Amino acid sequence: MKTIIIFFISLSGILLMAGSYLLAQKMPAAGSVTSKSLAYDPYESYPLYHGGDLGVNYSKSLTVLKIWSPPAQEMKLRLYKTSTGNDMTEEIGCRKDEFGVWKAELPGDRKNLYYTFQAKINGKWNDENPDPYAKAVGVNGKRGEIIDLNETNPTGWENDKPPLLKNHTDAILYELHIRDLSVAANSGIKNKGKFLGLTESGTKNSHGQSTGIDHIAELGVTHVHLLPSFDFSGVDESKLNVPQFNWGYNPQNFNTPEGSYSTDPEDGRVRIREFKEMVQSLHQKGLRVVMDVVYNHTGQTHNSNFDQLVPGYYYRQWEKDGKYSNGSGCGNETASDRAMVRKFILESLTYWAREYHVDGFRFDLMALHDMETMNQAAAVLRAIDPSIIIYGEGWTGGDSPLPENYRASKMNAGKMNGVAVFCDDLRDAVKGSVFDDKSTGFASGAKIMAESVKFGIVAAGEHPQIDYSAVNYSKKPYAKNPDEVINYVSCHDNHTLYDKLKISRPDASEEELVKMDKLANTIVLTSQGIPFLHAGVEMKRTKGGESNSFNKPDSVNRINWDWKYVNRDLFAYYKDAIALRKTHPAFRMPNNKMVQKNLLFLPTNDPQLIAYQLKDHANNDSWQQIIVIFNGADVEKNIVLPKGMWKTALQNYQFKNDGKACSDKVVIAPCSAMILYQE
Ligand code: CA
Repeated sequence: MKTIIIFFISLSGILLMAGSYLLAQKMPAAGSVTSKSLAYDPYESYPLYHGGDLGVNYSKSLTVLKIWSPPAQEMKLRLYKTSTGNDMTEEIGCRKDEFGVWKAELPGDRKNLYYTFQAKINGKWNDENPDPYAKAVGVNGKRGEIIDLNETNPTGWENDKPPLLKNHTDAILYELHIRDLSVAANSGIKNKGKFLGLTESGTKNSHGQSTGIDHIAELGVTHVHLLPSFDFSGVDESKLNVPQFNWGYNPQNFNTPEGSYSTDPEDGRVRIREFKEMVQSLHQKGLRVVMDVVYNHTGQTHNSNFDQLVPGYYYRQWEKDGKYSNGSGCGNETASDRAMVRKFILESLTYWAREYHVDGFRFDLMALHDMETMNQAAAVLRAIDPSIIIYGEGWTGGDSPLPENYRASKMNAGKMNGVAVFCDDLRDAVKGSVFDDKSTGFASGAKIMAESVKFGIVAAGEHPQIDYSAVNYSKKPYAKNPDEVINYVSCHDNHTLYDKLKISRPDASEEELVKMDKLANTIVLTSQGIPFLHAGVEMKRTKGGESNSFNKPDSVNRINWDWKYVNRDLFAYYKDAIALRKTHPAFRMPNNKMVQKNLLFLPTNDPQLIAYQLKDHANNDSWQQIIVIFNGADVEKNIVLPKGMWKTALQNYQFKNDGKACSDKVVIAPCSAMILYQE
């Protein structure tokens, strides 16, 4: 009760500070839509539409198109034969329906015609665009396409099922860019840079090792997390013979796959079918699929579908001058707290989960979304499939009008239900800050990071042995349970792990750098929470020191499959470390209570030595006791073991099971990890 009272006092304090940006104190129940979340809302007079049929509703005898645009004075629908040609077949004035909706009814079979909407607002005709709900678009996303979605299903799609996932903490994520995987000549993959590249099995590098989807399955991760794969701008889909690269954080059409990853961007059906084939192949390989969704902004602002059809509504503005805020750092930020934006996000997520069988969603700059939207997203997705995982970046890319206490941020993770956040505390504690190239972390010799590493080991939750005041970023726990935290040391942003280690430790030998690399991800793969690996880290991926490769050429971004051969020992190590995690549930405890009860740090009295015990068959582990030790120093260390005989599972980066046992005291080699156990 006391806690609750304190919560309300602090909440009202923040509400007072938020001034005229007060949020309505009563948030809507899950599933409902409200017009009033921000008290400052220049669009609050707009009527809301609650129906689920915005966009194209196709049938053989009648196609109905609906678009929500309360400020429009007129709305035109144009039909075309092709996705860009000067071949309009019809121009139709839409009829104004109830609740700000414009409607056009097209009798007969209009399948595979392309279309645009055009709104007249304040006496001016805006640009032609597809509706934001468009499920199929032509080349470069300029026109929508009327399609029969059933015709986009690959053979056997109705039987497609993801592999089992019992607990979210059983997930091991692998973050991948579609093009990077296959574009190198030595990938052995035919469909280079395409969704279909992820359907090719039996592909090899020049040394006969598996590549592509086989490689990912061989590594043993559970989820392939795809960088933006919805339709984005930044790659000209009409010039695919010219090599082009973009990460894809420029959303254009949220509800359809990216055209440049398809074999034919002209025909909106092809990318849909090929995306589904990719999902089907991944599922068949025992891999689940996560999509990186970027609902927090659009690539264009005033030229976006959103702004051309309903100016202003989909974006946040500053109250003082009405200017668009830019919390994404990309020119705008969407207003998830506005009812029709929230509705759009929820319906889009539901659509990807149902139509494309996507098993998880990663939210870019999630703190730009309000918690209510994220909680509703979790609720609607879990109603489809409770094993769907949802996580995001618990920060923004700039200042936002959304009050901090309403943001889906890292510090508010505990107030959300089943929405995980990235643990930048562990990330930077292990390998050094991403904001300072020269800084080091625990794995690269820093002497002040142990407490922050321990914070990650317990998955950013409450634990009696953590001194939160000594944690690098967060001075208090933020996750209720381990499934609310993503532990990682590298991702597409910033340097690759290897590049970061090399740049921050120019004095280290190649052999030492590899040890640091192994130590870094051994920490990730043994920690509580959900581990996340950047594709290629298992073969010492380098971008040649490039820290922001969002539009850099393939030569910087692609995975060079010869790395797998050159670094075959490292690959074998990652594979074994992943296998260890999958074999031992003690590393994957599902709740904080279990972590508090079963994870005990051993005193080391050394800032470069971390040791902990996983006790009493934690989470039904076959091993009764496990000891994990990390030595971040460049000299060997000793540690006194708890009583009894301990067998060695990992020593000097060798996984072994030779039955040899030790007691009393062990020596841990410089920059290494050790795992001991009792059966
Ligand atoms: Ca595109």
